Order: sequence, then C-alpha cells, then structure tokens
Amino acid sequence: MATFAAIVFVLGMLQTTPTPTPPLKVVCTTGMLGDMVRGIVGEHAEVTTLMGPGVDPHLYKATVADVRTLSGADAIVANGLMLEGRMQELFPKLRLKGTLVIEAGAGVPPSKLLTPEGSHGHPDPHIWMDPGLWAEAARFVAKELGARDPSHATEYERNAAALEKKWLASDALIAGALASVPPTRRVLVTAHDAFSYFGRRYSVTVAGIQGVSTESESGLEDIRRLVDMLVTRKVPAVFVETSVGDKSVRALVEGAAARGHPVTIGGSLYSDAMGEADSFAGSYTGMIQTNAATIVKALGGDAKGLVPAP
Ligand SMILES: [Zn+2]
Repeated sequence: MATFAAIVFVLGMLQTTPTPTPPLKVVCTTGMLGDMVRGIVGEHAEVTTLMGPGVDPHLYKATVADVRTLSGADAIVANGLMLEGRMQELFPKLRLKGTLVIEAGAGVPPSKLLTPEGSHGHPDPHIWMDPGLWAEAARFVAKELGARDPSHATEYERNAAALEKKWLASDALIAGALASVPPTRRVLVTAHDAFSYFGRRYSVTVAGIQGVSTESESGLEDIRRLVDMLVTRKVPAVFVETSVGDKSVRALVEGAAARGHPVTIGGSLYSDAMGEADSFAGSYTGMIQTNAATIVKALGGDAKGLVPAP
C-alpha cells in the first residue's frame, strides 16, 4: 500500500504543469522608447513609459512613484548617452539589484555618433532624429530583451526588423519632402540642439540656441550670432519645441525684426517628447513626419504625404 501511495504521489508530481512565466515588466524613460519597445515585445511584456508628452528628459527627475515603478521592473530601457541627465545615477543602483538596464544608445556604433563642440566629449543623445540610427538602437534593445526572455528572442528580433522597415519608409518620405526646400533655405533654428542627426541625415544646416542639453544657458552672443545667420541667409522661419520654453526663440524673432528681416515662428517641433497618445504625433513615425511637415512647410517646400490631411 505504502509503495502504491508513493507511486501516486510521484505521478502527481510529474503531472504538475509548470507555472507559466509572468510577462516581463519593462519600464521605458521616453515616449519614443515606449513606442519602440511596444513594437518589439508585442503581447509578451507589460510596457510602462515614465515621461509623457511635453516632458523634457534632460531635466526630468524620477519621482518617488517612478523609483517604485523602476524597482519593480524586470528591465528598464533608457536612451542613455546622458539624455536622462538627472536619472543617470539610478541606473547603476538598479543594475546592482539585478535589474536589466538597457541603454538604447549603446546600440549605435560610436563612429555614427556626433560629438558636438563644448560637450566635453559626450556624444549627442538625440539619436531618434535619424530613423536609421533609431533602427540600430532597436535591434540592440531587441537582442538585450531577448537575452532576458529567450523564449521570445526570435520574435523580438523579427519585430525589430519590421520596425526598421516601417521607419525607413518614413525616412524616405521625409528625405523626399526636404529635397523640395531650396538648399539655401534648408536651415533649422530651434530652442536647443536636438536636430543635429536630422540635419546630417537630410542635409539641413541646424542651429540650436541652447546646446545639446536644455541645462545649458544661451548667452546674448549666441543670439547675436544666430540673428546674423537668419539675416544673411534670408531664413524665413525659426521653430519652438514642445518640451522646451520658447523665450530664446522669441528673442531671435525680435532680433531679426530689429534688423529689418521678418522671421516667423514656423511651428512647434516634437524634439525630446512625442505628441498626445491619441494624436498622429503620438507615435514615433507620426512624430518625425509631423516635424518634417512643419519644417518643410515653413521653409517653403512641399510636405505632401507626410501627415494625414486635416
Ligand atoms: Zn534634447
């Protein structure tokens, strides 16, 4: 009898189905990363984004609730390259706890990064402004997430490849629209230097008033230098950004007007944050296409096909 009971017990053990692994909890810092990671993981992970529309990642400080969210995550996906300047010190602490912290910027080969003058050797973190670079970052993020979740690794890599295809279609559309702007007018003046990769990719001269981080202050000398450029190149428009104050941009408009060259504010660009979740600019491709449409229209080109007709 005892033997029989023992056999039943062992069989019962064998029949116990393994508990399914709960979905990975992934926390992303910016909206652009949230969009990327959702595209990579599909249904296999719960994705949370810390920074919403209009939030400046350079100045963002994690709240008490954020720290709790980050501590409960299996994986954190940050941009890195010091974009999240005031969250940087949290990452090593979370790694020590065993949390996987992926910095998307590490997926871009250093030779493709821009290192602006005066940045003390720190590369420009705004890599999402060039869809080709962003796709390299996505491939890296997919690989890292796949290493943590091997049963879905192939799917993650396949999804990253699909994202790349979609993003490169946007890229071609943007390149075509910018080509319709006369070369001398292909000048983009914004509140801070978020558009250098955009400028390199689409042959646009780019000047930000504030430098690569919104933490630096713009001086009168910077304003004077930019007004000079606007006047001599007859640039018709400058741009404000959804996540940065517009005071310095307005100073440019006034400076140029004082010298007899009218400059308009060509519109508001999504530099470091996407638009509202339910709007066209609330996705990564929508964000970059909306930016390109705003720029192309204000500089006198043809923006057809970049944004849905109103
Ligand atoms: Zn920025």
